[in-house]
Amino acid sequence: MREVIPVERLVSSSETHVTWRTEDFVRLAGRCEREGLTILIAHSHPPGFENFSPRDDRSEKRPFAYALDKLGEGAICGSLLMRSDRRLVARVWLDEPVRCASIDQITTIGSRWRFEFRAVAQDRPTLQRQALALGAGFNAHVGQLRVAVVGCGATGSAAAMLLARLGVAHLVLVDADIVDVTNLHRLHGATQGDADAGRKKADVLRDAIAELGLGCKVRAVSAFVESPIVRDAIRSCDVVFSCTDDHLGRAVLNRLAYFYLQPVIDVGVVLRLTEDKSRLSHVVGRATVLQPDAPCLWCRGTIDVRKLASDSARRGDPETYERLKAEGYILGAGDPSPAVITFTTETASMGVVELIQRLTGFRGHGMHANQRYRHFLEGEDSIGGSSSEATCRICARPNYWARGDVDPFLDMAL
Ligand SMILES: [Zn+2]
Ligand SMILES: [Zn+2]
Repeated sequence: MREVIPVERLVSSSETHVTWRTEDFVRLAGRCEREGLTILIAHSHPPGFENFSPRDDRSEKRPFAYALDKLGEGAICGSLLMRSDRRLVARVWLDEPVRCASIDQITTIGSRWRFEFRAVAQDRPTLQRQALALGAGFNAHVGQLRVAVVGCGATGSAAAMLLARLGVAHLVLVDADIVDVTNLHRLHGATQGDADAGRKKADVLRDAIAELGLGCKVRAVSAFVESPIVRDAIRSCDVVFSCTDDHLGRAVLNRLAYFYLQPVIDVGVVLRLTEDKSRLSHVVGRATVLQPDAPCLWCRGTIDVRKLASDSARRGDPETYERLKAEGYILGAGDPSPAVITFTTETASMGVVELIQRLTGFRGHGMHANQRYRHFLEGEDSIGGSSSEATCRICARPNYWARGDVDPFLDMAL
């Protein structure tokens, strides 16, 4: 949404009606045609009138027929009804013939997230004790949620297992990698047999979740996140968990949060050793929420531009990458980085807790933060203060917000 335009030149209005001048609408349709925008009309109803009225149908049809004709083929307009119970009802207007269609789901992204579905979720007795803790509405809420987990390694496999047990309806698991014996000490759901067979991490995790028997529908996609076959699967999700340690993947998901208004929860763990490598000097888990109005990963310094370049080289031109690696030009390649399942699992859990917080507000008022750290050596948590760089094209200005499908995808050279 670019702009909210209050209707100022009212002809008349009361608690049950509003009449405004159509010439303002006509002028707005002209502007939308020039700037590639569209129109959504919002109005409210008094208590007792919880849906669009026959009068709404009649009075919206004519101006929207005009606007759709002006905006040309494929145009979509919309209208939004704010009910007295603060819930939203929405519909779109389409052309040829001019008609309206209900919206199945409305998402509100702010300090809290609200996913309103037209369909009613079924009550699940298996999740009863969770409802006792988080409220009866919570299970219904997550029971319709679609969540993508990008990266099915140490943090991703933990996050996916937690989300499935939380009662999430659909999971999309994305990872191009296969299970190796050196992963088994930190991959949830993976076995020696999977490593011996060289099975894909995403497939292994999908099967492990199916065995839980909680009814979570899982789709596994064995590919890198930027590849075209992953796009539709990810765009169909409500929330995305970024559990990848690759910087190209992170850069893609970073943009996704702003282009598609899909909140992204990015998690990561950093382990460092003392210079003589005798003990841990730094163990920090991080969970960051990305959404419009919050700083992006570039502004937070989370994406390393050199690692991004080396990830791109590895995918695009593996031969050159191997040569550069052999010549020592690729930083950190070759030496495996330290990892311990307790730290990665706890960090994944921090990310899932952020989802619960956004859905329920269980932490209470004043506990809102877009980035949290867990300092394992110090035994304390902190909140990351950071702001958008004034020059950031992704998060500082709304030019990319809610742009949706553009060519190239995410306006990114991949
Ligand atoms: Zn109405
Ligand atoms: Zn930014």
